[in-house]
Amino acid sequence: MIDDFEAKGKRKKLVEELRKKGITDEKVLLAINTVPRHIFMDPAFLVHAYVDKAFPISSGQTISQPYTVAIQTSLLQVKKRDKILEIGTGSGYQAAILAEMGAKIYTIERYRELYLKAQVTLTSLGYSADFFYGDGNDGKPLYGPYDGIIITAAAEEIPDALLKQLKVGGRLVVPLGDSGTQVMTLVIRTGEDTYDYSSHGYFVFVPLLRGTVNGK
Ligand code: SAH
Repeated sequence: MIDDFEAKGKRKKLVEELRKKGITDEKVLLAINTVPRHIFMDPAFLVHAYVDKAFPISSGQTISQPYTVAIQTSLLQVKKRDKILEIGTGSGYQAAILAEMGAKIYTIERYRELYLKAQVTLTSLGYSADFFYGDGNDGKPLYGPYDGIIITAAAEEIPDALLKQLKVGGRLVVPLGDSGTQVMTLVIRTGEDTYDYSSHGYFVFVPLLRGTVNGK
């Protein structure tokens, strides 16, 4: 699959739409303008690649809505060479946006099928990331602490392991809530034992589950 003028044109329009919806972080908008979202889509939904909506991918999961990706990424305030841990690789699109912004990505997925597929997709686009198949509730202490942690599935509460793997001054972004709607929550680790919480609107995500799924 190639990135042609038509896709580039649609991406530009998507970026303008995100601007109108209130996204102001130019680095985030530039990354969305650059990463070809259609490469991450299920072929059945290819024509909708630049529609600002979430779409099904395999294993019953979804590729996040571009607006949601933009909000989560803006809240992370990513700088070049930041170490970012992502829980819920899914299609790999969010990881590619972070890689495009110059971050070093560690990403965990509980579906083996998605974990394998996302690696192929990112590699084919020339992005590098460290991919892990496992339960993201435990994080990846070996490579931490992290400048940022992004959870791209709905969590009823923030796993303690993840709060501990955040650097002091680091930022964790998570949609908090049950299976209905969730509140986008930014957590800043202000000290060894202190965390600052703020809310950033309502969203709907697939749930953060436990354990792994090996096979189709
Ligand atoms: N960031 C993704 C969005 C994927 S949807 C993208 O850009 O496409 C959320 C993903 O989180 C799903 O793929 C789901 O399988 C995964 N997930 C849910 N619970 C998880 C857990 N405990 N550990 C790792 N991944 C998890």
